[in-house]
Amino acid sequence: MFFYLDSQSISNTQFPFCDRNTAVNKILPDFPFIGLVLQLLKSNKLNVHLIGLSDFLNEDRQIFLNQLARFDNFSIIIYQNYKNREIDKELLSIITEINAELVISVDSGFDFEILKEKAKNLQCTNLKYSCEFEIISEDDFEKCETFISELEIQKYKTHPFYNNSNINFFEKNIFLSKEDIIEAKPTQKEIFARKTINQLNFGKLYILPDGSVYSNLNAPRLGKMNIHNLEELILKEIYGQKNWFKLRKNVKPCKSCIYNSLCPPISNYEYAIGKFNLCHIFEN
Ligand code: SF4
Repeated sequence: MFFYLDSQSISNTQFPFCDRNTAVNKILPDFPFIGLVLQLLKSNKLNVHLIGLSDFLNEDRQIFLNQLARFDNFSIIIYQNYKNREIDKELLSIITEINAELVISVDSGFDFEILKEKAKNLQCTNLKYSCEFEIISEDDFEKCETFISELEIQKYKTHPFYNNSNINFFEKNIFLSKEDIIEAKPTQKEIFARKTINQLNFGKLYILPDGSVYSNLNAPRLGKMNIHNLEELILKEIYGQKNWFKLRKNVKPCKSCIYNSLCPPISNYEYAIGKFNLCHIFEN
């Protein structure tokens, strides 16, 4: 479950990323968060991703996180942009207390010195943290590799980002060839899953600051938190939108391709780029 607490970060519909790189003090959106959480807790262990939390007033944040701390079948992941303010003492103690994980969102073309400072400060704490890099070019990738080895960053991810003018980067590095598909050798289980559900979307809900709920940020809204309960939202997804079941065998041109159950699930990149075949097999 992804809570976008800051509307600025919603512009990235390709992967969760905190875009807020200037500090502000805001009041948390007034959505019935705990009500939804209580409904969800009846189900299973949850991963709660909080995007933009560090921008809020200390007191507000504390109340919000203290409410979360009442439950224990949560795993909380807090996203903060690398340029945003330091993790203050209060936030640090709450993050430690609720055993949350911090994700540092790093923009493409990042400032090496600022990120270095941030990483060094974090290494002085006991916080579990990772860095997630937005990559738009090979240069970005090289810079990211240099940073990771120089600072000995243990946990990180790189996310290619399509910015409407780097299709060549995607074609060269991300688009699949026949050899890539064959070499990946998905297991029987994975092949079966790919024929049944979209593993990248399945079970995920995205909640925006105004309470709007989506099963995918690239699809129409499912409903609103203060109008629909969880059951209604899930039924709407399963019987209406079906983003959790968006399969290659149902979309053009993949439905006519012999690799449609071997290819990775449809991701947000297909929506950003505007076609389902991010491959060198069906070129158009
Ligand atoms: S056409 Fe679709 S299913 Fe076939 S290889 Fe390309 S992306 Fe995969």
